[in-house]
Amino acid sequence: MLRKITGALVVAIGLISLHAPAASASPGVEVAAVRTLTYNAGGAAEFKSAVDQGAQIWNSSVVNVRLVSTTSSSANIRIVADDGWPRAQTTSLGNGRVWMGREATGQGYNAIRIAAHELGHILGQPDRKPGPCTSLMSGSSAGVSCTNPYPNAREKSEVEAAFSTAKIGAHADWAHEFVD
Ligand SMILES: [Zn+2]
Repeated sequence: MLRKITGALVVAIGLISLHAPAASASPGVEVAAVRTLTYNAGGAAEFKSAVDQGAQIWNSSVVNVRLVSTTSSSANIRIVADDGWPRAQTTSLGNGRVWMGREATGQGYNAIRIAAHELGHILGQPDRKPGPCTSLMSGSSAGVSCTNPYPNAREKSEVEAAFSTAKIGAHADWAHEFVD
């Protein structure tokens, strides 16, 4: 609990100090703090565009981590399509695999929300079910009519905190499987 509070304070202070010099034409200051994660959506079939949009949503929502598309087989994140329920498996913070299951889109769930939600798991977010449509991590519990693909303030700040303090791949205890 104390660690979490400390982390949030570090983020708050970090954002202030990063944004001030950036305003005086020093963009390198911000870039230095960003951790880049590559994702390979070559196996995402008809979901490739939804995955790219989900990644862009995270990129526009947080500053401490950036998702970049690659065709490399050594990507941090592999994203594939299958006929099951959407899910994610993390091997460590920022590393893992996403399945864009057709079972959910077949029922009418929004593919971009699914992609952003599953990427949220890779970025260290747990499921928060049941939850409202304003929460990205409430997943399918928000109902099939929910198309919101954006993380809320809490989800954004938690991802910022995770990537301001953790080293990618350093947390083996982050390994987890999320169905939904
Ligand atoms: Zn989930």
